[in-house]
Amino acid sequence: MKRVYAIGVDLGATNVRVALGDSNGRIIKKIVEPTVRKGDKYALSNQIISMIKRLVSPSELKKVRGIGIGSIGPLDIKSGKILLAPNLGLRDVPLAKPISEEFNLPVYVLNDCVAAVVGEKTFGAGKRIDNLVYVTISTGIGCGVYVNGHLLLGKDGNAHEVGHIVIDYEGRLICGCGKRGHWEAYCSGRNIPKFAKLLIEEMPQEEVRKSKLFSTGKSIEELTARDIYDAAKSGDKVALKIVNEVGRLNAIGIANIINAYDPTLITLGGSVTLYNEELVLEPIKKYLNDYVVNRPPEIRVTPLRENIVLYGAIALVFNPPPIPAP
Ligand SMILES: [Zn+2]
Repeated sequence: MKRVYAIGVDLGATNVRVALGDSNGRIIKKIVEPTVRKGDKYALSNQIISMIKRLVSPSELKKVRGIGIGSIGPLDIKSGKILLAPNLGLRDVPLAKPISEEFNLPVYVLNDCVAAVVGEKTFGAGKRIDNLVYVTISTGIGCGVYVNGHLLLGKDGNAHEVGHIVIDYEGRLICGCGKRGHWEAYCSGRNIPKFAKLLIEEMPQEEVRKSKLFSTGKSIEELTARDIYDAAKSGDKVALKIVNEVGRLNAIGIANIINAYDPTLITLGGSVTLYNEELVLEPIKKYLNDYVVNRPPEIRVTPLRENIVLYGAIALVFNPPPIPAP
């Protein structure tokens, strides 16, 4: 059989990754560079076009069936635009149209987590599974969902915004979106330090003073999620308490997903998960039963690891998403 290629793009806030892949789910080659931070509303599409031209030769391009993009949002998936690109401080940034016109190929744009679950279903652990959720715990928290084999999109394509599920009705922390008590305000890589500060202030201060977390002279405001997980790995009691509480809230978030979507399998990814597999998975498994009513699914780390959005973007070309009517 003639080989069919697709181009996958993972457009993140920090990096853009572009890959050439095939219909068997093989990534043939890829390039990564920092996402542009300056320019007009075509800066992102121009960057992607330039990366594709550098990665894919004209003869390879002839065998490419289409281009898939898993992007930061919020998006208008019907027109393939980013509604708000915080890096550029711009609204209505077009992706699909300029890239499609440049290469004369169909371009499919979905939120990165939603693209990721398409990748899991097409090439990863979810191949024969009709009820599947992928959850990323990274700078933010989000998910992509299949129920009965249908990819969930919603009226505006935002059916995946589980990072903004309320897990603390007292709303002790304010989320990046401006609302209170949201899951990612406590448990995303960016926000774990803020939750840690809240917890540390309630702990016996004698114990806190002995913690490795402060042995380097860092103040409580300077701690990163990585500092906390690294200290927990070395057995630090204060760090372990924080990781345990983050895990309890992750269990509540995951339980909400299970209670709403009833999946057979949940795969987890994102940098916080991939760098700290056991410390993320174990507390979720420990506390899940306190919150879940549906039969629990299998929960595991995605085998597609940090390439899951790229695999998803490639999969979109072979398995185009049903775009909702306006
Ligand atoms: Zn929020």
